[in-house]
Amino acid sequence: MSDKKDFNLTPGEKEQYKPVTAEITCSHCGKKDTISLRACVNVSLHPEEKQQVLDGSFFMYTCPDCKEKTAVSYPLLYDDMGKALMIYLLPGQTEEALSKLNAQQETWSEDMLKAAKVCTMRAVRSINELAEKIKIADAGLDDRFVELSKAFVFAQFLKQNPGFTAVQVLFERQDDKDGLVIFSKDGKKFWAEFPDGLYDEVVSMFEDRVKNESKTEYELIDANWSMKILSNITNS
Ligand SMILES: [Zn+2]
Repeated sequence: MSDKKDFNLTPGEKEQYKPVTAEITCSHCGKKDTISLRACVNVSLHPEEKQQVLDGSFFMYTCPDCKEKTAVSYPLLYDDMGKALMIYLLPGQTEEALSKLNAQQETWSEDMLKAAKVCTMRAVRSINELAEKIKIADAGLDDRFVELSKAFVFAQFLKQNPGFTAVQVLFERQDDKDGLVIFSKDGKKFWAEFPDGLYDEVVSMFEDRVKNESKTEYELIDANWSMKILSNITNS
């Protein structure tokens, strides 16, 4: 796959969510193709696309020659107006792309800024993280407290599994139980459940610190973010 993070996604306001064209090279047979990528998925207008984002099929490209399937990850806005949720997938140089994206706010219309004030605005690095944010919202939870809860539960998991190397830790709700799906280096999956009452306890512990920000910027709420919050607490 070629240059998938080099799209220029900083067009003027009117064309902001027009599809972008990209060159793709099949990693299996080398066939070159030009594909059209949508810059925005609005699940209020197209509810059927939410499941496609969640299961990854939205991002799947099938080579016309050899039929090899590849996930194409590229800058995409996931917009759920019903949940007042906007998540920007920014693969690659995420921090850099994020500051560029937030700097564009100067060009936003008044309506956009008004919407931004009431929306939860997030940036994520990967398709999996995008799906995780959607699942957190579906579970009716606040992703900031989920991220802090993850830090506690994952620390506990590491204590019980010394030497374990995780490549990804994602929130899930399975059969009414909240917990973490932990992926090991060798591709194994582990489940670590949130202890009863943990999330509520985290909310009451951190609510003052976390709640009172009304931001109109896309934010990366991830393990680094929760580490910052937690280290501020231990240092103060
Ligand atoms: Zn191919």
